[in-house]
This record gives sequence, C-alpha cells and structure tokens, in this order.
Amino acid sequence: MTEPLLIPCPHCNGLNRIPGERLGDSPKCGRCKSPVLLNTPFELKQGDYASQIKGDLPLLIDVWADWCGPCKSFAPIFEQAAKQLSGRCRLAKLDSEANQQLAGQLGIRSIPSLILFRNGREVARQSGAFPLQQLLEWLRSQGI
Ligand SMILES: [Zn+2]
Repeated sequence: MTEPLLIPCPHCNGLNRIPGERLGDSPKCGRCKSPVLLNTPFELKQGDYASQIKGDLPLLIDVWADWCGPCKSFAPIFEQAAKQLSGRCRLAKLDSEANQQLAGQLGIRSIPSLILFRNGREVARQSGAFPLQQLLEWLRSQGI
C-alpha cells in the first residue's frame, strides 16, 4: 500500500485522494466523475489557479498568448509532453491575455514561460520554447 496522493480535478477543482497504485487505472473525480488524470494539457483560468497548484503531482504551466509565434510552435511539443508525463506531472496552459491579472501576479516578462509547481509552491521556471527532449530533460532534473 502506498500513501494516497492528493490530486486536484482539472474540471471542477475538487481535491481527490488517489492511492498511488490506482494512478494507472484512469481514476475518476469523486465530485464530478470526470477523469482526474489527463494525457492532454488543460486550460487554466485565474479562478482555478489556487486549487490547481496544490496536490502531490507537480503542475507545469505553459504561459502563452495567441499573438505569440513561438508559443504556437511550442504548443504541439507541450501536448506531446502531456502524453508522455501522464500520471507523473499535470500540464496546464495559461492564456496570459485572458488572465492578465494572474500573469502579472506570476511576474511573467516573456512568453512562452514554463512554471513548475509542487505542493502549492513554485519550484522551477524557464522562458522560451524548447524541443521535447530538452523539456523532458529539464523536468527529469526536477525529479519528474
Ligand atoms: Zn471533478
């Protein structure tokens, strides 16, 4: 038996308690019954932020904007990463135009920016788009 992991639901922000050995069984949210673990990035909004950075699975946020060319070319790489990291890291996209207050609060100066959270705290940050292998290596260096 492993310690249950606390994981926020990407759909309703409900905090789920999921045994480690069940992470591979497509666990459903106790509140809204949607899948808790996704293999695609989910959209993060201002109001979700405080709930979503919590929990035992790290959260990687890609801060982007519609007018940003490098952000657009990075999007498919981020999606690939979400597939490969399912169950180990949660990936979210933050539209910095639609959520300017939060982008300001996070001190975003250039995009794309990647911010890694663990248990509610920022643990690492990178600016600029980079290739999938480099992204995965960076996360590996953070213990993911
Ligand atoms: Zn839910």
